[in-house]
Order: sequence, then C-alpha cells, then structure tokens
Amino acid sequence: MEYYSAAICLGGHYIDALLNAPHIPHSPVPDYCAKCGNKVITNCPTCGTRLRGAGKGSWPPYVPSNFCDSCGTIMPWASREAIAAKLVRDLSEEVIDPAERLRIKEEVAALADPKESDDKRTRAGEWLKKAAPAAWKNVSPLVYSLASAAVRAHLGLPPAP
Ligand SMILES: [Zn+2]
Ligand SMILES: [Zn+2]
Repeated sequence: MEYYSAAICLGGHYIDALLNAPHIPHSPVPDYCAKCGNKVITNCPTCGTRLRGAGKGSWPPYVPSNFCDSCGTIMPWASREAIAAKLVRDLSEEVIDPAERLRIKEEVAALADPKESDDKRTRAGEWLKKAAPAAWKNVSPLVYSLASAAVRAHLGLPPAP
C-alpha cells in the first residue's frame, strides 16, 4: 500500500493525514497543536522521511504510526505499550523455544514497568540480554525508552541515542 504524508503533533494528535493528496483543500500546517500545544512535525526527526499518513484508497480511522516506516525510529508519541510490544517482537525473533518466548513477554513487562524496583527491572533486562544476545544489540533504543536511568546504567546501555 502507498501512503500519504501526515502532519502530527509531538503529543500524537494528527493534524492532517492526507497532506499530499491531490484535489483536497488543505489548510496550512500549523506550527503548534491547538489541542495540546506541542510542536507539529511532518517528517521523521531522525531520517527526515515524511510521516506516514493514511493509506491511499483506505478508509478512516487513521492512527499515527508509532515508528518511522523508513528508519524504525520511535516516534515521540509512541506509548510504553507500543514500545514494549515491539521489544517483545524483536527479541522473540531470535528465540525458538515457546516457553522462553512466553518468558520474554513477562520479562519485558517487568523491565517496562515503572512501578517495579530498579533491581527487578535490571534482572529482567539481564535475562533478556542473555536469552537473545544478538537481537539485544539492536534494540537499545527501545530498551532506552522503557528503562529508568538507573536500570540503563546497570544494563550498560550507551548514552542517549
Ligand atoms: Zn497535540
Ligand atoms: Zn525515520
């Protein structure tokens, strides 16, 4: 499917999901969102690709993507749940044992839960690192967004991406 481009505020409200659609009258993209006051962007902050709008020929509802469809960058409005779900998917690709796969879900939930102790969250991270060592190397931006500063430090994560 091909997609139009979109204008979305950093809080995740979409302003226009059919930006480059022909034959549709558009108001100019505002600098700030009228709902929450956040800045409005039309391109990925990392790679500059247009934000994915509505699919061509598709019917609403449109939901802003949580990740850039060109470089995978986590969008500023992505929820903790969306990031955790992607972490589970990415790590599960390396693990075949169904029991271990289930445990990946549980450990990611513990790692991502701000109400858990740093100690428990760190142990969850250590387990995940051991269970899927190759995938772990590629998921640090996800882990970075989910973990507290103390947990990041314990897990030896690089400084902010
Ligand atoms: Zn907004
Ligand atoms: Zn991008």
